[in-house]
Amino acid sequence: MISPDLLAILRCPMDPSNTPLVLDNEQLVCQRCRLVFPFKEGFPALLVEEAQLPPGCSSLEQLPCQRPPAS
Ligand SMILES: [Zn+2]
Repeated sequence: MISPDLLAILRCPMDPSNTPLVLDNEQLVCQRCRLVFPFKEGFPALLVEEAQLPPGCSSLEQLPCQRPPAS
């Protein structure tokens, strides 16, 4: 469905820390903010507008990727 090379360069558009996305259940998931990005016609739709919010999160403002990485 998606090549490892392509997966390696994909990043969450919300994420300032450059955390790689992981492939989970045929969707791409940000390891940091848990946004779920669907595939559209075989291509990952890395748009915040298309992404599914993680459980318990009602708006994009609550996502950790909006904030600087914890140090
Ligand atoms: Zn993210």
